[in-house]
Amino acid sequence: MKLLSGKTALVTGASKGIGRGIALKLAEHGANVAFTYLSSVEKGQALEAELAAFGIKAKGYRSDASDFKASEELVNAIVSDFGSLEVIVNNAGITRDGLLMRMTEEQFNEVIRINLNSVFNVTKAAIRQLLKQKQGSIINISSVVGVKGNAGQANYAASKAGIIGFTKSVALELGSRNIRCNAIAPGFIETEMTGVLNEETVKQWREAIPLKRGGTPDDVANAVIFLGSELSAYITGQVLNVDGGMLT
Ligand code: NAP
Repeated sequence: MKLLSGKTALVTGASKGIGRGIALKLAEHGANVAFTYLSSVEKGQALEAELAAFGIKAKGYRSDASDFKASEELVNAIVSDFGSLEVIVNNAGITRDGLLMRMTEEQFNEVIRINLNSVFNVTKAAIRQLLKQKQGSIINISSVVGVKGNAGQANYAASKAGIIGFTKSVALELGSRNIRCNAIAPGFIETEMTGVLNEETVKQWREAIPLKRGGTPDDVANAVIFLGSELSAYITGQVLNVDGGMLT
């Protein structure tokens, strides 16, 4: 069953990993897909054709989500190219891990700017269009780390906890306008981001997860389809853990 036919969705940071999985799943469900990439230019460009093969309209934009003005230009371009924008997935993110003792101001600020300011930038840029349409679903990719914290990730945890506060506030502000805003908190998802961990650490993570495996981009993408579609029409301001039971 195609749950998003005729809708336009934006995914930030879709050149690889979870964002790529989300973009493909949205296309599979009939949405027209606008997506962004930044440094992975070839991968970003290749995705456009992969998405179009689903028979939907797809376009990639090279755009830095942490840049306020660029985000405004991005949303204007999408509305002009696609005619509407109903689903926004704020996914772009990075890690710059290190214990607080050694963490530099630059490492802290960079993670906040790319993970948290980006969510504000893109959401703020899109809000006028969503209000005009009287509909929209905003889905922000947080993390279990934003709920429970993690040693060595004070910057990342702060950015992901910030996303949860932002999500709940936007849900309260815009609920009366039929605009929903939810967050997804993925657990341990096996992508390039977690690929930097050594095999022993990965094994330990998998063993600690009640479902006994790391998650896949598809696991997160399925939750995006749910939150982006009418299946979740009465759900807003929530954090959906997609973590194999990790936080249980
Ligand atoms: P990934 O494989 O490293 O991919 C990150 C994506 O973000 C890339 O497409 C990258 O694009 C993009 N990106 C980074 N900075 C950007 C910017 N300034 N503007 C636009 N795009 C930017 O990471 P992932 O594992 O898929 O993670 C995706 C999201 O899920 C992140 O928000 C992450 O924090 C969150 N998450 C991941 C996990 C996990 O276990 N993997 C768990 C919880 C939450 P370019 O390469 O083109 O620059």
